[in-house]
Amino acid sequence: MKSRQITVIANWKANLPPSEEVALAKAIAQEVGGALQAAGRPANLRLLLAPSALGLVPVASLLRREYPEAGVEVAAQDASLNSAGAFTGEIPADHLVGIAPAVLVGHSERRRDHAETDEVVGGKLARVVAAGLAPVLCLGDDLPNAEITARVTYVQAQCSAAFAAAERAGCSAAQLFASGLVIAYEPVWAIGSGNPASLAVAEAVASGLRNALNREELPVLYGGSVDAASAATWFGTRAVRTGLDGLLVGGASLSADRFAAIVRAALTVTEPA
Ligand code: PEP
Repeated sequence: MKSRQITVIANWKANLPPSEEVALAKAIAQEVGGALQAAGRPANLRLLLAPSALGLVPVASLLRREYPEAGVEVAAQDASLNSAGAFTGEIPADHLVGIAPAVLVGHSERRRDHAETDEVVGGKLARVVAAGLAPVLCLGDDLPNAEITARVTYVQAQCSAAFAAAERAGCSAAQLFASGLVIAYEPVWAIGSGNPASLAVAEAVASGLRNALNREELPVLYGGSVDAASAATWFGTRAVRTGLDGLLVGGASLSADRFAAIVRAALTVTEPA
């Protein structure tokens, strides 16, 4: 049986100026490069760094120029709902081509701070896919005390609203799947709280999404207060067997040591090339 691809994404948000993002990318590429080499360069591990918009080009150039063997790629944290044109301050998905192969869409901080509705999220999905890039669709409940079933129902509805809006914007579910779509389950209450969801919750949401979309192979990541200490749980054999496909890491990705420790945990469940 072909092993599932494991994906680890670092989301640096707006924490660092571009010069510090380049320095962090360098430190990560050095630490992670050594670990990847020691592990036989697993073919089923994908690592992406998502710097701020200003850091995208310098970080992508650094990784390509100086650390091509590390295989670390760049993801964008967002893309515009608009195409190229007279849209001051926007970054159209088309302009990310050749820089970032993947784009986060619908992160809860964008939904909360920029009033991104499901309609906007669906429109952005369509733009990203039309540009030939892979969206990382962020979904998550803000129900800290709910039962697991309520969370699953909430996230299924959020996903279906984003898919329906993408369809209205001209992007079918089939096109979304063909683009390399990844879903990141990021409960709002877990992000930045130091209090990650349990494995049981994340697994239930992942399988609830796959069932609703009738797509067993849909990659689902978890994000929300993951750190080096909890990485072993997230990459335990049970989590991988039951279909968690990796992590989206915020705060802990701002330290090369902590992020490298998470990558080393991922390496325990990957296979040499
Ligand atoms: C995030 O916001 O995408 C995230 C995962 O943040 P943190 O790890 O800091 O909770």
